[in-house]
Amino acid sequence: MARIAFIGLGNMGGGMAANLAKKGHAVRAFDLAEAALARAADAGCLVAASAADAVDGADAVVTMLPAGKHVRAVYEGEIFAAAAPGALLLDCSTIDVDTARAVGAAAGARGLGMVDAPVSGGIAAANAGTLTFMVGGSAADFARAEPVLAAMGKAVIHAGPSGSGQAAKICNNMLLGASMIATCETFVLARKLGLDLQTFYDISSKASGQNWSMTSYCPVPGVGPESPADRDYQGGFAAALQLKDLKLAMAAAQSVDASVPMGATAEALYQAFHNAGHGGLDFSAIIKLLDGQ
Ligand code: NAD
Repeated sequence: MARIAFIGLGNMGGGMAANLAKKGHAVRAFDLAEAALARAADAGCLVAASAADAVDGADAVVTMLPAGKHVRAVYEGEIFAAAAPGALLLDCSTIDVDTARAVGAAAGARGLGMVDAPVSGGIAAANAGTLTFMVGGSAADFARAEPVLAAMGKAVIHAGPSGSGQAAKICNNMLLGASMIATCETFVLARKLGLDLQTFYDISSKASGQNWSMTSYCPVPGVGPESPADRDYQGGFAAALQLKDLKLAMAAAQSVDASVPMGATAEALYQAFHNAGHGGLDFSAIIKLLDGQ
């Protein structure tokens, strides 16, 4: 079993660190928030006094931080200096591709292996240990990262060289945002045309309009499998986080001159929904905006 430093014990990191400890790893955990540290201690982690203290002597370092600026600051400010030679660094945060590549290159220049390994699955999957990891890095670093990530997830997929995990994550989530909006506006149109929504679901879920946002996460209460729509759009994947990922996708698209009109429209609509004060609702609640509510 490995000695693992875990930095960033928030909604996602708290459950992930707990699962590493549950699998028998010696986890030294650090977060700026006292409450997060107390939860990690309850879950069997050792509490460190700082990020550098957590990293000291660790075989692997996992970070789960809000955004690129936090990742850059924690790696450049503490982790690189404290990491033992041969330690493997795994950043599971969702951040911009350029920062992921820059931090990965800085790790490489110090002789440290690093992967970007963002996740799909949300808080429930983080707690249950059923996340999907998309990993960017060399084949050798991926092989070392895989058993650490497998202790927190159900699937670990090598996406390509450094930055590819973040690229896969934001491409996936751009498609998710656009397909959720298309699904929502379709249900609104179906209702206005007089269709019974359960009947329309039964038809479209078996026809060419079928997609994940419809059949796994239906935005209409009482239709399809249980989803946040059935809980008044509480829990799930916050619209604010969907907006964050769409902004990352737009920045990435601009950097490579890619045309993403559907993604851009999705970003504008989630921005409007957020500006109206609904960023804390599940992202499927955007059906309210499209329905004029
Ligand atoms: P969060 O805000 O709940 O947790 C982030 C944690 O990082 C906080 O506890 C904060 O105190 C800590 N932190 C910030 N700066 C720090 C520092 N310098 N040193 C130590 N700790 C520090 O966020 P979250 O929901 O856990 O998300 C984390 C990442 O996972 C984000 O990049 C997010 O986009 C991504 N993500 C989230 C979800 C989700 O459903 N919440 C799903 C997939 C991916």
